[in-house]
Amino acid sequence: MKNYLTASISASAVRHNIALLRGRIGAGVKLCPVVKDDCYGHGMDVLYPVLAGLVDGFAVASPHEALALRRRGYKGFVLCLLSAYFDELDVQDELVRQSITQTVMSSTALASIRAAAERVGATAQVHLKVDSGMGRLGVPVGQAAGLIQAIHELSDVELTGIYTHFSSAEEADKSTTFQQLERFVSILPKAGNLTVHAANSAAALELPESHFDMVRVGLALYGYRPVEGLDFRPCMAVAAKLIAVKHLPKGSRSGYGLVYEYARDSRVGIVPIGYGDGYFRNLSDRAVVRIHGKDAPVCGRVSMDQMTVDITDIPEAKVGDEVEVISSDPAAPNSVGNLARLAGTVPYEITCHLGHNIRHLLVD
Ligand SMILES: *Cc1c(COP(=O)(O)O)cnc(C)c1O
Repeated sequence: MKNYLTASISASAVRHNIALLRGRIGAGVKLCPVVKDDCYGHGMDVLYPVLAGLVDGFAVASPHEALALRRRGYKGFVLCLLSAYFDELDVQDELVRQSITQTVMSSTALASIRAAAERVGATAQVHLKVDSGMGRLGVPVGQAAGLIQAIHELSDVELTGIYTHFSSAEEADKSTTFQQLERFVSILPKAGNLTVHAANSAAALELPESHFDMVRVGLALYGYRPVEGLDFRPCMAVAAKLIAVKHLPKGSRSGYGLVYEYARDSRVGIVPIGYGDGYFRNLSDRAVVRIHGKDAPVCGRVSMDQMTVDITDIPEAKVGDEVEVISSDPAAPNSVGNLARLAGTVPYEITCHLGHNIRHLLVD
Protein backbone atom coordinates (compact mmCIF):
# COMPACT_ATOMS: atom_id res chain seq x y z
CA MET A 1 0.00 0.00 0.00
CA LYS A 2 1.35 3.40 -0.99
CA ASN A 3 0.16 6.00 1.46
CA TYR A 4 0.81 8.83 -0.95
CA LEU A 5 -1.82 7.51 -3.39
CA THR A 6 -5.39 7.97 -2.27
CA ALA A 7 -8.73 6.98 -3.69
CA SER A 8 -11.47 9.12 -2.19
CA ILE A 9 -14.69 7.17 -2.31
CA SER A 10 -17.85 9.24 -2.02
CA ALA A 11 -20.55 7.67 0.14
CA SER A 12 -23.10 10.25 -1.03
CA ALA A 13 -22.42 9.41 -4.69
CA VAL A 14 -23.02 5.72 -3.98
CA ARG A 15 -26.22 6.49 -2.05
CA HIS A 16 -27.37 8.72 -4.89
CA ASN A 17 -26.66 5.97 -7.46
CA ILE A 18 -28.57 3.42 -5.38
CA ALA A 19 -31.54 5.80 -5.18
CA LEU A 20 -31.50 6.23 -8.97
CA LEU A 21 -31.37 2.45 -9.41
CA ARG A 22 -34.19 1.86 -6.94
CA GLY A 23 -36.27 4.43 -8.79
CA ARG A 24 -35.67 2.61 -12.04
CA ILE A 25 -36.36 -0.96 -10.88
CA GLY A 26 -39.28 -0.22 -8.57
CA ALA A 27 -40.08 -1.43 -5.08
CA GLY A 28 -40.83 -5.06 -5.92
CA VAL A 29 -37.39 -5.88 -7.34
CA LYS A 30 -34.38 -6.67 -5.17
CA LEU A 31 -31.11 -4.81 -5.63
CA CYS A 32 -28.04 -7.03 -5.39
CA PRO A 33 -24.81 -5.08 -5.83
CA VAL A 34 -21.95 -6.91 -7.51
CA VAL A 35 -18.90 -6.36 -5.32
CA LYS A 36 -16.42 -8.72 -6.98
CA ASP A 37 -12.75 -7.76 -7.18
CA ASP A 38 -12.91 -5.54 -4.09
CA CYS A 39 -15.92 -3.59 -5.39
CA TYR A 40 -14.36 -3.19 -8.85
CA GLY A 41 -11.30 -1.72 -7.12
CA HIS A 42 -13.22 0.85 -5.06
CA GLY A 43 -12.51 -0.96 -1.79
CA MET A 44 -14.83 -3.19 0.20
CA ASP A 45 -13.43 -1.88 3.48
CA VAL A 46 -14.83 1.59 2.81
CA LEU A 47 -17.94 0.62 0.83
CA TYR A 48 -19.29 -2.19 2.99
CA PRO A 49 -20.65 0.10 5.72
CA VAL A 50 -22.28 2.31 3.07
CA LEU A 51 -23.86 -0.57 1.17
CA ALA A 52 -24.83 -3.06 3.86
CA GLY A 53 -27.98 -1.30 5.05
CA LEU A 54 -29.19 -0.22 1.60
CA VAL A 55 -29.14 -3.41 -0.45
CA ASP A 56 -30.83 -6.82 -0.55
CA GLY A 57 -27.71 -8.97 -0.66
CA PHE A 58 -24.33 -9.13 -2.35
CA ALA A 59 -22.95 -10.93 -5.39
CA VAL A 60 -19.25 -11.83 -5.37
CA ALA A 61 -17.05 -13.78 -7.76
CA SER A 62 -15.02 -16.04 -5.49
CA PRO A 63 -15.64 -18.07 -2.34
CA HIS A 64 -13.04 -16.09 -0.41
CA GLU A 65 -14.93 -12.85 -1.13
CA ALA A 66 -18.16 -14.50 0.01
CA LEU A 67 -16.63 -15.74 3.25
CA ALA A 68 -15.03 -12.33 3.87
CA LEU A 69 -18.54 -10.81 3.90
CA ARG A 70 -19.55 -13.23 6.64
CA ARG A 71 -16.42 -12.31 8.61
CA ARG A 72 -17.58 -8.69 8.39
CA GLY A 73 -20.76 -9.85 10.07
CA TYR A 74 -23.08 -9.78 7.08
CA LYS A 75 -25.88 -12.29 7.68
CA GLY A 76 -27.99 -11.71 4.56
CA PHE A 77 -28.05 -13.18 1.06
CA VAL A 78 -24.63 -13.69 -0.53
CA LEU A 79 -24.42 -15.14 -4.04
CA CYS A 80 -21.12 -16.64 -5.15
CA LEU A 81 -20.90 -16.44 -8.95
CA LEU A 82 -18.01 -18.90 -9.16
CA SER A 83 -17.46 -22.03 -7.07
CA ALA A 84 -14.79 -23.54 -4.93
CA TYR A 85 -12.91 -25.81 -7.25
CA PHE A 86 -11.18 -29.14 -7.25
CA ASP A 87 -9.37 -29.90 -4.02
CA GLU A 88 -10.62 -26.91 -2.02
CA LEU A 89 -12.74 -29.15 0.17
CA ASP A 90 -12.42 -27.03 3.29
CA VAL A 91 -13.61 -23.98 1.34
CA GLN A 92 -16.53 -25.93 -0.10
CA ASP A 93 -17.53 -26.99 3.42
CA GLU A 94 -17.25 -23.47 4.78
CA LEU A 95 -19.53 -22.11 2.03
CA VAL A 96 -22.24 -24.52 3.15
CA ARG A 97 -21.64 -23.84 6.84
CA GLN A 98 -21.84 -20.08 6.27
CA SER A 99 -25.03 -20.32 4.16
CA ILE A 100 -23.45 -18.82 1.07
CA THR A 101 -25.65 -19.29 -1.99
CA GLN A 102 -23.55 -21.12 -4.56
CA THR A 103 -23.89 -21.27 -8.31
CA VAL A 104 -24.62 -24.61 -9.95
CA MET A 105 -23.85 -24.76 -13.66
CA SER A 106 -23.19 -28.46 -14.21
CA SER A 107 -23.78 -31.86 -12.70
CA THR A 108 -20.11 -31.95 -11.64
CA ALA A 109 -20.54 -28.73 -9.64
CA LEU A 110 -23.73 -30.11 -8.15
CA ALA A 111 -21.97 -33.30 -7.06
CA SER A 112 -19.22 -31.41 -5.22
CA ILE A 113 -21.68 -29.06 -3.50
CA ARG A 114 -23.73 -32.05 -2.46
CA ALA A 115 -20.69 -33.82 -1.08
CA ALA A 116 -19.86 -30.73 0.98
CA ALA A 117 -23.43 -30.58 2.32
CA GLU A 118 -23.13 -34.22 3.37
CA ARG A 119 -19.78 -33.67 5.09
CA VAL A 120 -21.10 -30.64 6.96
CA GLY A 121 -24.50 -32.11 7.69
CA ALA A 122 -26.40 -29.04 6.50
CA THR A 123 -28.41 -27.98 3.47
CA ALA A 124 -26.58 -26.13 0.67
CA GLN A 125 -28.45 -23.31 -1.04
CA VAL A 126 -27.86 -22.94 -4.75
CA HIS A 127 -28.89 -20.84 -7.72
CA LEU A 128 -28.79 -22.45 -11.15
CA LYS A 129 -26.94 -20.52 -13.81
CA VAL A 130 -28.24 -20.92 -17.34
CA ASP A 131 -26.20 -20.13 -20.45
CA SER A 132 -28.80 -18.42 -22.63
CA GLY A 133 -26.26 -17.37 -25.25
CA MET A 134 -23.24 -15.78 -23.60
CA GLY A 135 -21.28 -18.98 -24.20
CA ARG A 136 -19.50 -18.81 -20.88
CA LEU A 137 -20.42 -20.31 -17.52
CA GLY A 138 -23.89 -21.83 -17.22
CA VAL A 139 -25.83 -24.96 -18.08
CA PRO A 140 -27.02 -24.99 -21.71
CA VAL A 141 -30.73 -24.14 -21.99
CA GLY A 142 -31.53 -27.63 -23.29
CA GLN A 143 -30.03 -29.29 -20.19
CA ALA A 144 -31.48 -26.94 -17.59
CA ALA A 145 -34.67 -28.88 -16.90
CA GLY A 146 -32.67 -32.05 -16.26
CA LEU A 147 -30.36 -30.32 -13.82
CA ILE A 148 -33.31 -28.70 -12.01
CA GLN A 149 -34.84 -32.17 -11.64
CA ALA A 150 -31.53 -33.57 -10.36
CA ILE A 151 -31.31 -30.86 -7.69
CA HIS A 152 -34.92 -31.40 -6.61
CA GLU A 153 -34.12 -35.07 -5.99
CA LEU A 154 -31.42 -34.19 -3.47
CA SER A 155 -32.49 -33.64 0.12
CA ASP A 156 -29.42 -31.65 1.16
CA VAL A 157 -29.25 -29.21 -1.76
CA GLU A 158 -31.96 -26.58 -2.03
CA LEU A 159 -32.55 -24.72 -5.29
CA THR A 160 -33.59 -21.17 -4.37
CA GLY A 161 -32.89 -19.25 -7.57
CA ILE A 162 -32.16 -19.33 -11.28
CA TYR A 163 -30.25 -16.82 -13.37
CA THR A 164 -28.55 -15.96 -16.60
CA HIS A 165 -26.11 -13.29 -17.78
CA PHE A 166 -26.28 -11.09 -20.88
CA SER A 167 -23.40 -10.73 -23.33
CA SER A 168 -24.42 -7.47 -24.97
CA ALA A 169 -26.98 -5.62 -22.85
CA GLU A 170 -25.06 -2.34 -23.07
CA GLU A 171 -25.32 -2.22 -26.86
CA ALA A 172 -27.95 -0.04 -28.50
CA ASP A 173 -29.09 -3.03 -30.56
CA LYS A 174 -30.88 -5.21 -28.02
CA SER A 175 -31.71 -8.09 -30.39
CA THR A 176 -29.23 -10.63 -28.94
CA THR A 177 -30.33 -9.64 -25.42
CA PHE A 178 -33.97 -10.28 -26.35
CA GLN A 179 -32.96 -13.67 -27.79
CA GLN A 180 -31.19 -14.55 -24.55
CA LEU A 181 -34.20 -13.38 -22.58
CA GLU A 182 -36.55 -15.51 -24.66
CA ARG A 183 -34.44 -18.65 -24.16
CA PHE A 184 -34.17 -17.97 -20.43
CA VAL A 185 -37.90 -17.36 -20.02
CA SER A 186 -38.66 -20.63 -21.84
CA ILE A 187 -37.27 -22.70 -18.98
CA LEU A 188 -38.83 -20.72 -16.12
CA PRO A 189 -42.09 -22.73 -16.10
CA LYS A 190 -39.99 -25.81 -15.21
CA ALA A 191 -38.20 -23.96 -12.45
CA GLY A 192 -40.95 -23.61 -9.85
CA ASN A 193 -41.01 -20.84 -7.28
CA LEU A 194 -37.48 -19.42 -7.39
CA THR A 195 -35.71 -16.07 -7.23
CA VAL A 196 -35.24 -15.23 -10.91
CA HIS A 197 -32.56 -12.77 -12.02
CA ALA A 198 -30.76 -11.75 -15.20
CA ALA A 199 -30.05 -8.03 -15.41
CA ASN A 200 -26.68 -6.34 -15.04
CA SER A 201 -26.48 -2.52 -14.93
CA ALA A 202 -27.31 -1.93 -18.58
CA ALA A 203 -30.30 -4.27 -18.54
CA ALA A 204 -31.51 -2.98 -15.17
CA LEU A 205 -31.61 0.53 -16.61
CA GLU A 206 -32.80 -0.10 -20.13
CA LEU A 207 -34.72 -3.36 -20.19
CA PRO A 208 -37.53 -3.62 -17.62
CA GLU A 209 -38.50 -7.04 -19.07
CA SER A 210 -35.27 -8.40 -17.62
CA HIS A 211 -35.81 -7.31 -14.00
CA PHE A 212 -37.69 -10.39 -12.72
CA ASP A 213 -37.15 -10.63 -8.92
CA MET A 214 -33.67 -9.13 -8.59
CA VAL A 215 -31.01 -7.20 -10.52
CA ARG A 216 -27.23 -7.66 -10.19
CA VAL A 217 -25.69 -4.26 -10.54
CA GLY A 218 -22.06 -3.20 -10.50
CA LEU A 219 -21.05 -0.46 -12.90
CA ALA A 220 -24.06 1.83 -12.36
CA LEU A 221 -23.74 1.57 -8.59
CA TYR A 222 -20.18 2.88 -8.78
CA GLY A 223 -21.37 5.60 -11.15
CA TYR A 224 -20.02 4.70 -14.57
CA ARG A 225 -23.05 3.91 -16.67
CA PRO A 226 -24.10 6.92 -18.66
CA VAL A 227 -27.85 6.92 -19.24
CA GLU A 228 -29.87 9.61 -20.91
CA GLY A 229 -31.61 11.65 -18.23
CA LEU A 230 -30.05 9.93 -15.18
CA ASP A 231 -26.97 11.47 -13.61
CA PHE A 232 -25.04 8.57 -12.16
CA ARG A 233 -22.14 9.94 -10.17
CA PRO A 234 -18.71 8.30 -10.33
CA CYS A 235 -17.83 7.59 -6.71
CA MET A 236 -14.04 7.63 -6.95
CA ALA A 237 -11.37 10.32 -7.30
CA VAL A 238 -7.69 9.34 -7.24
CA ALA A 239 -5.01 11.74 -6.05
CA ALA A 240 -1.23 11.79 -5.78
CA LYS A 241 1.28 14.55 -5.05
CA LEU A 242 3.98 16.15 -7.14
CA ILE A 243 7.24 14.74 -5.78
CA ALA A 244 9.67 16.70 -7.98
CA VAL A 245 9.70 19.58 -10.43
CA LYS A 246 12.41 20.35 -12.97
CA HIS A 247 13.15 22.46 -16.01
CA LEU A 248 13.93 20.72 -19.29
CA PRO A 249 15.11 22.85 -22.22
CA LYS A 250 13.48 22.68 -25.63
CA GLY A 251 14.53 19.51 -27.46
CA SER A 252 14.96 17.45 -24.26
CA ARG A 253 13.34 14.09 -23.93
CA SER A 254 12.04 12.11 -21.00
CA GLY A 255 11.05 8.61 -20.03
CA TYR A 256 11.95 5.11 -21.28
CA GLY A 257 12.89 5.06 -24.93
CA LEU A 258 13.05 8.85 -24.90
CA VAL A 259 10.07 8.82 -27.22
CA TYR A 260 8.79 12.20 -26.10
CA GLU A 261 10.50 15.42 -27.13
CA TYR A 262 9.70 18.77 -25.49
CA ALA A 263 8.86 21.31 -28.17
CA ARG A 264 9.60 24.26 -25.89
CA ASP A 265 11.49 25.02 -22.69
CA SER A 266 9.35 23.12 -20.21
CA ARG A 267 8.59 22.64 -16.57
CA VAL A 268 8.08 19.02 -15.82
CA GLY A 269 6.54 17.41 -12.75
CA ILE A 270 7.07 13.85 -11.50
CA VAL A 271 3.99 12.03 -10.21
CA PRO A 272 4.54 8.82 -8.20
CA ILE A 273 2.03 6.56 -9.91
CA GLY A 274 2.59 4.14 -12.78
CA TYR A 275 1.42 0.96 -14.41
CA GLY A 276 2.43 -1.05 -11.36
CA ASP A 277 -0.25 0.90 -9.53
CA GLY A 278 -2.76 0.25 -12.31
CA TYR A 279 -2.30 3.44 -14.31
CA PHE A 280 -2.28 2.09 -17.85
CA ARG A 281 1.01 2.35 -19.73
CA ASN A 282 -0.84 2.95 -22.97
CA LEU A 283 -2.06 6.26 -21.54
CA SER A 284 1.51 7.51 -22.18
CA ASP A 285 1.44 10.73 -24.23
CA ARG A 286 -2.36 10.64 -24.30
CA ALA A 287 -3.91 11.34 -20.94
CA VAL A 288 -3.83 14.35 -18.66
CA VAL A 289 -3.82 14.73 -14.89
CA ARG A 290 -5.04 17.94 -13.26
CA ILE A 291 -3.17 20.24 -10.92
CA HIS A 292 -4.88 23.34 -9.48
CA GLY A 293 -7.79 22.49 -11.80
CA LYS A 294 -5.64 22.72 -14.93
CA ASP A 295 -4.69 19.98 -17.37
CA ALA A 296 -1.14 18.63 -17.18
CA PRO A 297 -0.40 16.26 -20.10
CA VAL A 298 1.30 12.94 -19.37
CA CYS A 299 4.48 13.05 -21.46
CA GLY A 300 6.74 10.18 -22.29
CA ARG A 301 6.16 6.62 -21.24
CA VAL A 302 4.39 5.86 -17.99
CA SER A 303 6.87 3.86 -15.84
CA MET A 304 6.08 1.22 -13.25
CA ASP A 305 5.75 3.64 -10.34
CA GLN A 306 6.07 7.15 -11.73
CA MET A 307 5.33 9.35 -14.69
CA THR A 308 6.18 12.82 -15.96
CA VAL A 309 3.65 15.54 -16.66
CA ASP A 310 4.08 18.87 -18.40
CA ILE A 311 3.34 21.72 -15.99
CA THR A 312 4.75 24.57 -18.08
CA ASP A 313 1.31 26.16 -18.22
CA ILE A 314 0.73 25.73 -14.49
CA PRO A 315 3.49 28.00 -13.10
CA GLU A 316 2.04 27.89 -9.61
CA ALA A 317 2.49 24.08 -9.40
CA LYS A 318 5.17 23.08 -6.90
CA VAL A 319 6.47 20.04 -5.05
CA GLY A 320 3.87 18.72 -2.64
CA ASP A 321 0.86 19.96 -4.59
CA GLU A 322 -2.03 17.63 -5.14
CA VAL A 323 -2.31 15.88 -8.50
CA GLU A 324 -5.77 14.75 -9.52
CA VAL A 325 -5.03 11.52 -11.37
CA ILE A 326 -8.69 10.52 -11.75
CA SER A 327 -11.55 12.98 -11.51
CA SER A 328 -15.00 12.01 -10.27
CA ASP A 329 -16.52 14.48 -12.73
CA PRO A 330 -17.61 12.31 -15.69
CA ALA A 331 -17.02 15.22 -18.08
CA ALA A 332 -13.39 15.75 -17.01
CA PRO A 333 -10.66 14.58 -19.40
CA ASN A 334 -9.29 12.39 -16.60
CA SER A 335 -12.60 10.75 -15.67
CA VAL A 336 -12.70 6.94 -15.56
CA GLY A 337 -14.88 6.92 -18.69
CA ASN A 338 -12.56 9.15 -20.69
CA LEU A 339 -9.41 7.31 -19.59
CA ALA A 340 -11.05 4.03 -20.57
CA ARG A 341 -11.77 5.40 -24.04
CA LEU A 342 -8.19 6.66 -24.38
CA ALA A 343 -6.75 3.34 -23.23
CA GLY A 344 -9.06 1.38 -25.52
CA THR A 345 -10.72 -0.46 -22.66
CA VAL A 346 -13.78 -0.40 -20.42
CA PRO A 347 -14.29 1.50 -17.14
CA TYR A 348 -14.26 -1.81 -15.22
CA GLU A 349 -10.61 -2.44 -16.15
CA ILE A 350 -9.52 1.08 -15.21
CA THR A 351 -11.00 0.90 -11.70
CA CYS A 352 -10.04 -2.74 -10.98
CA HIS A 353 -6.40 -2.08 -11.85
CA LEU A 354 -6.20 0.99 -9.65
CA GLY A 355 -7.42 -0.86 -6.60
CA HIS A 356 -4.47 -2.59 -5.04
CA ASN A 357 -1.67 -0.11 -4.17
CA ILE A 358 -3.89 2.70 -3.09
CA ARG A 359 -5.28 3.93 0.20
CA HIS A 360 -9.08 4.11 0.11
CA LEU A 361 -10.76 6.85 2.10
CA LEU A 362 -14.47 7.33 2.57
CA VAL A 363 -15.53 10.93 2.04
CA ASP A 364 -18.85 12.79 2.51
C1 LIG B 1 -19.99 -8.55 -13.08
C2 LIG B 1 -21.33 -9.16 -13.22
C3 LIG B 1 -22.50 -8.38 -13.13
C4 LIG B 1 -22.48 -6.87 -13.01
O1 LIG B 1 -22.33 -6.25 -14.27
P1 LIG B 1 -22.35 -4.64 -14.40
O2 LIG B 1 -22.29 -4.40 -15.85
O3 LIG B 1 -21.15 -4.13 -13.67
O4 LIG B 1 -23.61 -4.16 -13.78
C5 LIG B 1 -23.72 -9.04 -13.13
N1 LIG B 1 -23.79 -10.40 -13.26
C6 LIG B 1 -22.68 -11.17 -13.38
C7 LIG B 1 -22.83 -12.64 -13.52
C8 LIG B 1 -21.43 -10.58 -13.38
O5 LIG B 1 -20.34 -11.35 -13.52
